[in-house]
Amino acid sequence: MAQRDSQMGAGLEISYSMSPLAARLPQTRRRFRSAGSAGQMRPNVFCVAGRHQLRKGVTMQKPFEHSDYVELSMHFRCNLKCKHCMILDSMHWLNPADDAEFSATLEKQKRTGQWKGIILTGAEVTLRKELPDWAKQARRAGFEHVRIQTHAMRLADPAYCETLVAAGIDEYFISVTAATAELHDQITEVPGSFEKTITALRNLDKFSQVKLMTNTVITRLSYQSAPDVVELLKDLQRLVQMDFWGYWPMEEDGHSDLLVPHTDVRPYLKTAIQKAREYRRHVEIKNFPACLLGEDARYMSNDQPELRTDPNFWTEFNRNGFHQCAYRDVCGSKQCLGLNSAYIKLYGWMEDVLSPLPRQELRP
Ligand code: SF4
Repeated sequence: MAQRDSQMGAGLEISYSMSPLAARLPQTRRRFRSAGSAGQMRPNVFCVAGRHQLRKGVTMQKPFEHSDYVELSMHFRCNLKCKHCMILDSMHWLNPADDAEFSATLEKQKRTGQWKGIILTGAEVTLRKELPDWAKQARRAGFEHVRIQTHAMRLADPAYCETLVAAGIDEYFISVTAATAELHDQITEVPGSFEKTITALRNLDKFSQVKLMTNTVITRLSYQSAPDVVELLKDLQRLVQMDFWGYWPMEEDGHSDLLVPHTDVRPYLKTAIQKAREYRRHVEIKNFPACLLGEDARYMSNDQPELRTDPNFWTEFNRNGFHQCAYRDVCGSKQCLGLNSAYIKLYGWMEDVLSPLPRQELRP
């Protein structure tokens, strides 16, 4: 244990700056509105004679800082039904940002220039015909970057890609739920969705000004597919970051058949991380116990950009019941979300496999 703790601490450099707004929020909510930096990635993978090795002390610039972005929920409808969707049951009553809120955000940016980028999200923002115009307005307001969070199916159409890129959308955070059409379409419940999303990624990859990110939500259905997702996308030139987010059940009870023991996930997740690093992707892991990741805990960040969304979302979100861990009071990790209520009901507290991180090796 001491050996493992020591290895985890090495190279783990985490800072936690927080906006005044974030400091006022409850802990769970704060993590998702925090303006805090997720940390400097020090140890890095580099290639020597075809072999990839870890070298400590080499800095690799993170492609994005969450604190540089403001995120607006612009549309709460979707044409997929992803089984893991956080808002599948609430999107029909959540309210998106209206014109006034969007305009106020742009005005603030004009006045203060406080963000580098804006993220337009919700459920599926490409369903809104106003999207290209929103992007142009955001650029005119001084945002250097406009990002959308999307399943990207509509971008299988090259002409629509051209339209969005020309409008100024240069960052695309795209959900890839699994590495095969069969599994992806099973998760999204829409036949043909995989083909469209992969085609969209390849279409966008042709634009030199574009940066691509992917997110794969880790569930009982998808966890074994995570390393294959990395392999599937290995040729994309613009793919700078791959996220793997542990499933948020959005409920207190352990009824979900999507939950899976973290110990089952761990080997697949670590392989996915290793492969992604070999392909020189930045990696972000969310909602997975830090102490189960060993040295890969350095890729864990539960920070998010400042999110402006329907306040009722947070009521639903906090039903997850984060920050539960038998070692919470003694653990040094300030990033780890611990376990959630539904998980504990299904699999217990896992005291025998979790292990608190040393406090002294984390910076305040
Ligand atoms: S001991 Fe608990 S709080 Fe600490 S890293 Fe492990 S799961 Fe997270």
